[in-house]
Amino acid sequence: MPSAAEKPAAPIRWIEIAVPAHPEAVEAVSEILDRVGYNGIAVDVPLEGGPHIVKAYVVYDHAARVKVRRVKEAIGRLRAFGLGPVGEVALRRIADEDWLESWKSQFTPIAIGPFFVRPSWSTASAAGIEIVLDPGMAFGTGLHPTTRQCLEAVGRLDLAGRSVLDVGTGSGILAVAAAKRGAGRVVAVDVDPLAVRAAEENARRNDVSVEVALGSAADVPGAFDVVLGNLVADVLVRIAADLRARVARGGVLVCAGIVAEKEALVVRALADAGLARRRRDQREDWVRLDLA
Ligand code: SAH
Repeated sequence: MPSAAEKPAAPIRWIEIAVPAHPEAVEAVSEILDRVGYNGIAVDVPLEGGPHIVKAYVVYDHAARVKVRRVKEAIGRLRAFGLGPVGEVALRRIADEDWLESWKSQFTPIAIGPFFVRPSWSTASAAGIEIVLDPGMAFGTGLHPTTRQCLEAVGRLDLAGRSVLDVGTGSGILAVAAAKRGAGRVVAVDVDPLAVRAAEENARRNDVSVEVALGSAADVPGAFDVVLGNLVADVLVRIAADLRARVARGGVLVCAGIVAEKEALVVRALADAGLARRRRDQREDWVRLDLA
């Protein structure tokens, strides 16, 4: 076996620039990184809360050093605006193969309920209702267990001709799934402008009609037969009354992203708002509740 020294090292081809940013600062940080990034930027959105991570990849050539310096200067100026905390600029050198891996390996084709979810760069095919997704702009990660739980609910509910509201749509996956299952009107909202953009693109990519808007449950007029909210427990508690207000008579609220230890808090907040638990699903530490 050759020693490490004999083994030809993969050439360094890219520099990853990663900047942790408060959700309020994500768009400004993204603009800065977008100026230097090859093929745009990616944002990792932690479901559990905490800072988003904005990432860009810069070709490792003679211009890289200047680009990195410009990013650091611009981020420094941004901090002075006090937009919300922006963390330190982290650099990582990566080889070509690793780059493709880190970009795409986390998200592979997968069957969930009646759906077959396929990343846009994959040519895999399988039986089921196909959802083609490019989470690149809004999410760095693949399908979270809570997303799966919600997709299963969307796959099970009778949606034909029904109206659906997806609160915290992210990549738009649940809204697209609902539209594909024959929902009448589908509205999707998110407080993150990057998610709004990604959801619009994914709706287009899947050739379905979804009304995507920036905002939350409180900003949408009217009531819906099905309201989806794959949010975190604290947010669900905070906007419980707004979510309730969006559920039409006889409608259902599906919410997820609830860590088991916070389930009671969420159930109580939604009960106070007038919704009772009808169904419950737990996967690992994550709870999904269907309420009416
Ligand atoms: N629905 C997607 C994404 C879930 S991630 C899925 O199931 O995979 C949660 C999303 O909620 C994020 O995109 C975040 O920006 C958004 N979000 C957080 N707080 C929100 C709020 N108060 N109102 C609306 N969206 C919110």
